[in-house]
Amino acid sequence: MHAEKNNLKIVAGIDAGSTTTKALILDSTGKILSYHILNTGSAYWETVKECLSKALEASNLNWSNLNYVVATGYGRKLVNFANLELTEISCCAYGVAKVFPEVRMIIDIGGQDSKIIHVDRDGFVINFVLNDKCAAGTGRFLELIACSLGIPVEDLGKLAIRSTKIIEVSNVCAVFAESEVVSLRAAGADKADIVAGVCRAIARRIVGFVGQIGLKTPIVVCGGVAKNLGVIRALEEKLNTKVLVPREPQLMSALGAAIRGLEELGFLKVKVDATKLIL
Ligand code: ADP
Repeated sequence: MHAEKNNLKIVAGIDAGSTTTKALILDSTGKILSYHILNTGSAYWETVKECLSKALEASNLNWSNLNYVVATGYGRKLVNFANLELTEISCCAYGVAKVFPEVRMIIDIGGQDSKIIHVDRDGFVINFVLNDKCAAGTGRFLELIACSLGIPVEDLGKLAIRSTKIIEVSNVCAVFAESEVVSLRAAGADKADIVAGVCRAIARRIVGFVGQIGLKTPIVVCGGVAKNLGVIRALEEKLNTKVLVPREPQLMSALGAAIRGLEELGFLKVKVDATKLIL
């Protein structure tokens, strides 16, 4: 692609999350060219570079083709080549509003935090709750449980929806919940029933946060935990409403960051084609 020749501008949104790093490449016509997701690990800076390089490679571009880079996420301050750095809450709200303008509430459940955001149709944040002090209600909680049950975290959702018996996991604290799960297993409880109980425990915690700002609908659930169907079903049950889940729920903040990048370049009213991320 000859980006400069036809005056097409290329921007990148980088979401340096605590658990996964995401890079998304967007052009000035609003087309999402490519994206990449990597586990963050301990080498933040190396992961950011690799993730962006992989995303660029996927659309036959290189670093010199980039006209603007916006960094967001927990590790955004380490992205020292970014032109702009924005909070995840603002980028997530912005990304979601551009693809789901009707949505009024965002439930973002990531690796080490969860956020509930009340948003208007322009992506303006009206109110939010951030839980980053406790693993309960985050992906970390699910990772701990998956590890103690010897199941990949990706398989928890499928297993949860096979549950036939209700088991309540009553502990809110992730550490105590893990010992509760070990005891349930020792008492012969079925793994599917335990995992479903864990998904309901997460949903209970999230619904508590939702209550702090009041339920608004329609709702989108994003972040990596949105890939867990057990958590989605439990949330729908407790909120008593259906929720929307994008096909690539981890990319909403990177998308919002990239769109903000286009705006910084003067492309203010670009209609983003996000079909790749939602369907
Ligand atoms: P970050 O906070 O770094 O942005 P993510 O939004 O990517 O993190 O969420 C990471 C969490 O998402 C993990 O802790 C895990 O619980 C969950 N997760 C990631 N991939 C999957 C998957 N394929 N299926 C189910 N859960 C997943």
